Amino acid sequence: MAIRPIVKWGQPVLHAPASPVAQIDGAVASLLADMVDTMYAAPGIGLAAPQIGVALRVIVVDLSVGEDKKQLIKLINPELVSTEGEQRHEEGCLSVPGYGGSPVRPAHVTVKGLDLDGKERTYEGTELLARAFCHEIDHVDGLLFVDRLSPLKRDLLKRKLRKKAKSGDWEE
Ligand SMILES: [Zn+2]
Repeated sequence: MAIRPIVKWGQPVLHAPASPVAQIDGAVASLLADMVDTMYAAPGIGLAAPQIGVALRVIVVDLSVGEDKKQLIKLINPELVSTEGEQRHEEGCLSVPGYGGSPVRPAHVTVKGLDLDGKERTYEGTELLARAFCHEIDHVDGLLFVDRLSPLKRDLLKRKLRKKAKSGDWEE
């Protein structure tokens, strides 16, 4: 297990769809372990594999940031099964440090994916959990919250982010 560097906005791995995991093996298990370590160290409530430079559809979410082991969710090949309603709250992203935005998200989501044993798992989420699922599944589709803002806000933010990415001088 290891804490891995977090890839920042502008790196191609964050902006392209990731590949499904074809075989759940030891490499996937250690990827998940590293993701959990990295998420807790950041600290954050969610992380997707592309954020540590791995173009695979793997996400972790833990609203308790390690305080409550029962809240840790690890999903391989996650997908949104259904969504309902709308909500809009400020979101941040470990790959976009120092910036935030309020994309529209579903109020309620049902998500499914595989666990490390290859067993299908289904989760339901509302409020923050729904937003976290959507945010992380967006990551494996190559989308960041920035891409979900209104065109005006998105362009404004992207202009700032391009400068940051060029300088490499991200706030941590
Ligand atoms: Zn993020």
